Amino acid sequence: MKVSVRTFGCKVNRFESEQLISSIRDVVTVSDESDADVFVVNGCSVTATADSQIRNIIRRLSKRGRVIVTGCYARNRGTERVEGENIIYLDFMENVADWFGVPFRYAVSFSTSRPFIKIQDGCPQFCSYCIIPHLRGGKVKSVPIEQIEQLAEQFATQKVNELVLTGIHIGTYGRELQGNFELADAVEAVYKHIPAVRMGSLESAEVSDRIFGQLRSGVLLPHLHIPLQSGSNAVLKRMNRPDTAEIFRNSALKAIESVGKPGLGCDVIVGFPGESDSEFQESYDMISSLPFSYGHVFPFSARKGTPAFQMEKDEPVSPQLKKERAKILRELLEQKKDDFMRSLDGIQTTMILEKEADGGMWGTTERYLSVFFQGEGKQGSRIPVTLSHDGKSLIGTG
Ligand code: SF4
Repeated sequence: MKVSVRTFGCKVNRFESEQLISSIRDVVTVSDESDADVFVVNGCSVTATADSQIRNIIRRLSKRGRVIVTGCYARNRGTERVEGENIIYLDFMENVADWFGVPFRYAVSFSTSRPFIKIQDGCPQFCSYCIIPHLRGGKVKSVPIEQIEQLAEQFATQKVNELVLTGIHIGTYGRELQGNFELADAVEAVYKHIPAVRMGSLESAEVSDRIFGQLRSGVLLPHLHIPLQSGSNAVLKRMNRPDTAEIFRNSALKAIESVGKPGLGCDVIVGFPGESDSEFQESYDMISSLPFSYGHVFPFSARKGTPAFQMEKDEPVSPQLKKERAKILRELLEQKKDDFMRSLDGIQTTMILEKEADGGMWGTTERYLSVFFQGEGKQGSRIPVTLSHDGKSLIGTG
């Protein structure tokens, strides 16, 4: 049997695919998609666009062999075989491993230079637009701290130089574990073995003083990704978000105070039901006033089964206006990124070498920016560089 695994969506899905690959490696050949006869599609359901893209891919692959669909995309279907089609839906990755007749392991393969560790699952927040808690559950399930430490130790023996902590809502880490653990404990457990630790997306209200301390002392890399979603408190309330515009701004400013020039990332939704011109302007002003190094803009898309699905029926923002607002914020964030990259000119830092291309190597800096290194090196190694900006990209010289 030749199996390929295709992954869509967030880092959690990527981590779970890695776990599956690691679990099935001994019993089946994991190969290029072109020679596979079984296709695992680990799908994402976060937007309606993601859904339709994955639907097309599943249909196409099912003409070439058996397709096993899993991830959030399959979660709301449970376990289901589609009669007359070559498609099986399996709601959890454990069930996929079961289908292959192997135990599902909390271990990963080492196929990337900056691997992830999934430290928790589930989200109790239930933001009004988000389908994820409905698919993954509202109960927090944290990976025990000893298990995280063991995994970090395994990575260290493979000379991994950077680990990224990921999860569905990592700020809730440890709250249900005995011993009152929190996210900063997971960071510490990893840092005992790995010299560079990065966090995935973290709600601004959940960046604790210990986390700011870890940023300041270099236990965490100088990078913080905090989802904004909106700069307007009225919209944040309708979204049932855990923070306010003031909390968001304070966390961003505290990160700057702790690190100087952190890589600062955000996500923002435009065209949430009822978003007025002045509410949109508040998002614009928030982004404009902070030194973001990157950001992702999502035009609102209503997911069935969430409260915002009804809100969209009652107070929709027109598709045209969503598009215009998305364009405005994307341009603003591009400008911010460019300003940030230029501000790093002459800075000494380190980067992880990731892939050979363009006569050199591309990699990622401490501040989570892509850098071109004109030279050779071992993939996955961390090297010291001085940054410069050539008008388009960041260049690292040794
Ligand atoms: S915090 Fe909100 S956006 Fe993030 S996973 Fe939970 S419900 Fe979704």
